Amino acid sequence: MQPMQPRIEARKLLQNLNIRNLPVNMTGVCNALGIDIFYDSMVGLDGYFIQNQEKRKYLIIVGDSVGLCRQRFSIAHELGHIRLHHGRVGFSVAGKVTRSPQLEANANMFASELLMPKIFLQRFGYLEPEKIADICQVSLETAVIRAREMGWGG
Ligand SMILES: [Zn+2]
Repeated sequence: MQPMQPRIEARKLLQNLNIRNLPVNMTGVCNALGIDIFYDSMVGLDGYFIQNQEKRKYLIIVGDSVGLCRQRFSIAHELGHIRLHHGRVGFSVAGKVTRSPQLEANANMFASELLMPKIFLQRFGYLEPEKIADICQVSLETAVIRAREMGWGG
């Protein structure tokens, strides 16, 4: 996969779904793609996805004990796996989900672009990470990384 591919895929998705406002409505995005979101209590894992038996429909499962921002990122991250890796990513070893660091990095990049789209953020010229977090409904930690990527110091 090309280094920019995850970002390009996220941008395409925003465009295809005609999303123009922040924060990006992750429930709406998943609905539009026919993907269901299920909230469940889980330990040591933020989220994962499964496919139905016919391998036609995805279900994203998100931990409900973490904050809303983290849930949003998890949904976007799992969606990244589905969109970028066509679901061929998580495999279960004795109940543990194992995934490669490269695929994880791709999914994070996709999630970052989807939740904090460059094209939207650019319009502001400059934003403090706190502002990015607020506008995009992401964690401050995630926003700090994004601000750096945008060349906005830090
Ligand atoms: Zn992952």
